[in-house]
Amino acid sequence: MATDSWALAVDKQEATTDSVSLNDKAAQSLLNKMIHTSLVNTTNQVEVLQRDPNSPLYSVKTFEELRLKDKLLKGVYDMGFNRPSKIQENALPMMLAEPPQNLIAQSQSGTGKTAAFVLAMLSHVDPTNKWAQVSGISIFSNLMFCKYKMLMKTVDRGAKLQEQIVIGTPGTVLDWCSKLKIINPKKISVFVLDEADVMIATQGHQDQSIRIQRMLPKECQMLLFSATFEDSVWKFAERVVPDPNIIKLKREEETLDTIKQYYVLCSDKEEKFTALCNIYGAITIAQAMIFCHTRRTAGWLAAELTKEGHVVALLSGEMTVEQRATIIERFREGKEKVLVTTNVCSRGIDVEQVSVVINFDLPMDKDGNADNETYLHRIGRTGRFGKRGLAVNMIDSKHSMNILNQIEEHFNKKINKLDTDDLDEIE
Ligand code: ADP
Repeated sequence: MATDSWALAVDKQEATTDSVSLNDKAAQSLLNKMIHTSLVNTTNQVEVLQRDPNSPLYSVKTFEELRLKDKLLKGVYDMGFNRPSKIQENALPMMLAEPPQNLIAQSQSGTGKTAAFVLAMLSHVDPTNKWAQVSGISIFSNLMFCKYKMLMKTVDRGAKLQEQIVIGTPGTVLDWCSKLKIINPKKISVFVLDEADVMIATQGHQDQSIRIQRMLPKECQMLLFSATFEDSVWKFAERVVPDPNIIKLKREEETLDTIKQYYVLCSDKEEKFTALCNIYGAITIAQAMIFCHTRRTAGWLAAELTKEGHVVALLSGEMTVEQRATIIERFREGKEKVLVTTNVCSRGIDVEQVSVVINFDLPMDKDGNADNETYLHRIGRTGRFGKRGLAVNMIDSKHSMNILNQIEEHFNKKINKLDTDDLDEIE
């Protein structure tokens, strides 16, 4: 995006993208960021709660209406953004209002939150002032901006930044504001907290963010973004963002209504594999996703399917987030027709393009009970993509039958038995 401002990212942690060092939530969230290379469309309505309910509610349908600086407007169009996304329609006028307004916004990954606050940051910055004016804290600064990491090492205590935008993890930004005094917090006019839900899942980040917030001037604009809005996020948001406007974009509901669900009885994993081959032999499958409980089973299954001549992609937990993103991209492009995966990495994949989902192992929680949410997420469709799909659950024990029954009960939907020697009914 065209701008005179510089962005500097700081972090003293090792810039590592190894999934092992990230908690699951963080890895998932980063993966989501990496694979969302275009907007997620949503037909759901935005819910807006204004701090002053009597003031008119502004929303914009074009970027022109925002009266951005010429360079920024050009930058937006150069990025290929034709019109504001659903969340941007309401969030941008609030973020760009005079006097500045505080905002808490929640919407799922890929709906344009980052683009919105970057635009707000850039339009608030005065490039002729050579000091930090905007501070964004995000759990991922070490990953996304690691190429700037070296800069950090050359900054001495007491040195003053010329850069106008500072992005960092809470601990580092706090150090720069207090211990090292590289940033004067009193001169910060916009403070952004991104990925609040992921952030508060990491020990210490919550307190550090609050300590930074307390050093900022009263009139500093506070913006907080989150993909989810459970109670803990909400409590945190209310502590760091005084008098907020609130924007929420509901997630598109997933449903099992358009899915044909079956189960197959087998005695062990070899029989499950045979059943899977029978299904492949009987019906035309454009693309399928197969879920296994462990990496080991996933690896074994991928190898067996490859021996059978399938072009298989394997996605599993020991891979770096970058490797996962690459595999998902290739699968999306149709380079592989079968994706074998464990649970860890399945969330970022838009299942609507997949016509068949096989639960080689049923999803269960750590106590061995049915994980209904994961089941819905694996095979459910949003109303918009109402294409019909097929889901097959492989049952090889009393325990897995139990899980299947729990799932049936939870969703109040019967799952029929499939005879893999006679597959006419599913075509
Ligand atoms: P989020 O922060 O909610 O995950 P992003 O801001 O990263 O979403 O946007 C997701 C993707 O959509 C990015 O690739 C971004 O460049 C693109 N994008 C954002 N806003 C627009 C827009 N108004 N028009 C087209 N694409 C957009």
